[in-house]
Amino acid sequence: MSKLKILVAGDPVLRQKAQEVERMDKKTLRLLDDMAETMYAANGVGLAAPQIGVLKRIVVIDVGEGLIELINPVITYREGSAVGPEGCLSVPDYEGEVERAEIVHCEYYDRKGRKILIKADGLLAVCIQHELDHLDGVLFIDKAKVLMPKDFDGEQ
Ligand SMILES: [Zn+2]
Repeated sequence: MSKLKILVAGDPVLRQKAQEVERMDKKTLRLLDDMAETMYAANGVGLAAPQIGVLKRIVVIDVGEGLIELINPVITYREGSAVGPEGCLSVPDYEGEVERAEIVHCEYYDRKGRKILIKADGLLAVCIQHELDHLDGVLFIDKAKVLMPKDFDGEQ
């Protein structure tokens, strides 16, 4: 496994639409491993492939409940709305308040090619919506109702 460089806002790759994964090959499996390592090394809870310069519809998430690897994920159901704090490994200097659905259902394929459906709420639901936005070139700063520098109040 190897740690990859995370692109930051301003890089045009982050604004492009990612393509579906057509087959699981060794390269895709290695990419999943490298993405997880990169996310953990950066203390992130989620990472989308475009953030490391790969325009594929692949996301890794771990909100403290174990690693989830999502290939070709699609949100099939949304319910409610809530505004909460968000940050992003690709926008290291800012945090913001973003409105998201409270509950989402997400269909995706795992690394073995099995189709999975998860029903998520809380941080996992927010994270899924945030990471799937990356696959369409959308960043949380586009949606934030409030955006502020991380050292705004002199604290970390
Ligand atoms: Zn992000």
